[in-house]
This record gives sequence, structure tokens and C-alpha cells, in this order.
Amino acid sequence: MPVYDPKSLKAEEFINDEEIRETLAYAEANKNNTALIDQLLEKARPKKKDKGYTCAGLTHREASVLLACEIPEKIEEMYRIAEEIKLAFYGNRIVLFAPLYLSNYCVNGCLYCPYHLKNKHIPRKKLTQEEVRAEVIALQDLGHKRLAIEAGEDPVNNPIEYILDCIRTIYSVHHKNGDIRRVNVNIAATTVENYRKLKEAGIGTYILFQETYHKDSYLHLHPTGPKHDYAYHTEAMDRAMEGGIDDVGLGVLFGLELYKYEFAGLLMHAEHLEAVHGVGPHTISVPRLKRADDIDPDDFDNGISDEIFEKIIACIRLAVPYTGMIISTRESEEVRSRALRLGISQVSGGSRTSVGGYAGYDENERPHDTEQFDVSDQRSLDEVVRWLMENGHIPSFCTACYREGRTGDRFMSLCKSGQILNCCHPNALMTLSEYLEDYASPQTKEVGYRLVEDELKRIPNEKVRRIAEENIDAIKSSNRRDFRF
Ligand code: SF4
Ligand code: SF4
Repeated sequence: MPVYDPKSLKAEEFINDEEIRETLAYAEANKNNTALIDQLLEKARPKKKDKGYTCAGLTHREASVLLACEIPEKIEEMYRIAEEIKLAFYGNRIVLFAPLYLSNYCVNGCLYCPYHLKNKHIPRKKLTQEEVRAEVIALQDLGHKRLAIEAGEDPVNNPIEYILDCIRTIYSVHHKNGDIRRVNVNIAATTVENYRKLKEAGIGTYILFQETYHKDSYLHLHPTGPKHDYAYHTEAMDRAMEGGIDDVGLGVLFGLELYKYEFAGLLMHAEHLEAVHGVGPHTISVPRLKRADDIDPDDFDNGISDEIFEKIIACIRLAVPYTGMIISTRESEEVRSRALRLGISQVSGGSRTSVGGYAGYDENERPHDTEQFDVSDQRSLDEVVRWLMENGHIPSFCTACYREGRTGDRFMSLCKSGQILNCCHPNALMTLSEYLEDYASPQTKEVGYRLVEDELKRIPNEKVRRIAEENIDAIKSSNRRDFRF
């Protein structure tokens, strides 16, 4: 029987079924242990240190106790601490991005995804480089600077050379004042050699959702295709890091398996990356199973309520305070609104989840033929930006760290020391000003510049404030763009 070892490179040792079961039993036994729960909440709380804050985080066992706890006032306290952590390390900024679907050809048999091989009625589509250009121009015209590219696994239709060509095309398009400054990549598990090629192509984060950490369920849900190989999929992040990719993004698809099992597995994966590579995941995504062509979420038994979903987000925030958290347009405005307070730091906006969903369509028109899932939040990017601002957040289009070489452990040490805040805040204001000047509606522009003026006053360092003000003046009065700290 595999033995739990976070430093092992074998999937079944670092995501160890027995360890997860023991964790869940421990959590269940202690879910009303108020002394322990208070101790864990105290451990997770951000502490003042020098000019900033420091946070201890929680182990998968500790965080699982909090997730199991059903005492209302303790849950309220968790939510308060999650918000404190969010404000201590991310302030009120929210980074925006959009997905770009390149191809829905796929040879896998995933039971929860409409792109599975046996779905014969969904149209199959793969963008040509000309179409990629058109999509990127449409995305730039919306105001996006950061993309997550998505493609099914298909060695014939979507080989790594195709993905690399697309990345080159995306970075090469400069339309009006627009450019895509960071391309994150969400493609199937691949080889060290291919990860190296992605690194050389200048990708930001490599994102791969585990879907489920429960091996038996994984094998059942992925009956055919290369993705059936649980170990190859689960060990992908180690190969990505071996290939030189510093920033990796984890996630599970909540609804496939019991959420407490997934939660413990997800945190064990994060602990494994830290133990082996010295740096945890850059981001964690929290997708929930959604309706789609050929897919009915009611066919799966493990759907979670909005309340549980919020508790999961808060507990992840407490456990891994330095990891960015992403929520997509799978979730509604209401759910996203609450999740933002509990630790989410990145959201998508104005998203299309179909292949070729941006070019040729206006903001309210959305093609459904090749959609991967139903989008709950169907607002335009302009509406999302204004909504964020009206709810006390600063929408940010910042991509500075990756472009300044602040990735992997370099990024994490700046993040842990709290110094990154000195960059994030002015960068958010400058990139928001670019958005307001180039793309926003008059109403959003008005709300936005009021916010920028107020927030500029909050930059504590006088020199940084002066430079940010000068740069924003330049953005307003000229076509100079892409200022960054
Ligand atoms: S989840 Fe990914 S690998 Fe599975 S069918 Fe969909 S596109 Fe293919
Ligand atoms: S400065 Fe770095 S961490 Fe901060 S928002 Fe920009 S890219 Fe993200």
C-alpha cells in the first residue's frame, strides 16, 4: 500500500488515499472541538510584522477541521479572517482575465465535459492563426491584457506546435493601444520537453485542473483517452516545474466527488509542490460542475450548495494565504460577489467559453454551438469592471510580475514579505486608467477616475505616488501605455 510522503514524486504517495481518509476522520472527530478550532483560527489570522503582515497558513489536516466545523459563530469568524487575509495580502484589488478557446477537438472521454470524444453532435472547431488574430483583436477591443488559453487534448489536431503558434500569434498582435501581456495556458498534461517549449514561448501560469483527487472516481470519470492515466495527470505539475515553468495553477472540479475529500487532496498537492520545489501553487481555481451540451450536473451526486462553496473558498484562503484564487463566470454575480470578500483575487469577465466566441459578435451576442459550459455571469467586461468598483474593489489589468521576472520563489518571497503590495496597488491604478481611457463606457469612466483619484492618495510612499500620478497623466494625455512597478 502506498505510504504518504509529501516529498515523493509518485502521485499515490503525495496524494495518499489513506492520509486523506484519516484526515477526514480527524476532522469529523474534532468538528465541535472549540478549543482546537479557536487555536486554528488564531494560527491562521494575519499577524502584523514590520511594515506588513505575515500569515502561518494551515496544514491540510488543520484546514479540514475548519471545513468540517458547523458552529455558526466559528464559521463567521473564519469568514472574517479570510477577509482579513485577503485585505492584508491583496488589498481590494481584483485582477481580470478572459479565457480564449482555441480548439474543442479532444480524444478524451471525460464524462463531465461536452468536448469528450463520443459527443458526435457538438460541432468541432479549431481556430486558424488568422482566426486567433481576430479573437485577440476582439479581446483587446474589450480591454483584456491577460488571457487563459484552452484547448482539448488531441495530438493530431492540437499538437504542441499548434499551441506554440497560437501563443506567438497572441503576443504578436498590437491593435490600437491594446496588447496581450500574459498568456496563461490550460492544456492537457504533457511531457517535460513540451513544458520547456511552453516556458520558452513565454507563458505565464500553467493551469491544470486535477478534476478529482479520488483515484477510483478519476478512473471512472475518465474512462478513455490519455487522461485516463491518473498518475501521469497528477504528476503533471512536477514535470511542468522540471521543464522550467515557475508558476502553476491547481484546481478541482467541485461536484464530481465528495468536497471534503477534494479539499484535503488539493491542499496536499499544494504542500507537495512546496515540499519538492520550494514554491506552492501560484493560483488555485474553484470551478463547480455546470450544465452544458450533453452534460446534466444532476447526473452527478456531489453537487455543493452556495454556502458550502463559500466555506471552501474561505478555508482555502486560510490554508494557503499567498496563493491567488480564481473564480470564473461559471458562477453568478451574487456568488462571485460574496466570494470576492472571502479571498478571491482574480476573476474572468465578459467571457466566451466557445471556440471563436469573441470576433464578429457584439457584447450581448454569445454563440452557444461549441460552448464548454453555461456561463452564469453574462455581463460585459465594462459592466463587471463598474460592478467591482461600485462594490469597493479596484479592477486591475496588471501583468507586471511575470514581465519583470518576478515568478516562482522570487514572487513568493516578495509576496510573503508583503513588499509586493507596493507594486500591486499603483500597477492596478495605472492599468485601470489604461482601461478607462481606451475602452470604458462614459459611466464606467466616471466611476473609475473617481476611484483612481481616491486610491492615489492612499499610496503611502511619496515617490511611488508621484510616479504613478505622472504615468496616469501620460495615459490620459497621450498613447503612452504599459507603465509598471
Ligand atoms: S475536460 Fe478537457 S480533456 Fe476532458 S473532454 Fe473536456 S476538453 Fe477534453
Ligand atoms: S504587481 Fe504582480 S502580484 Fe501584483 S497584481 Fe501585478 S502581477 Fe499581480
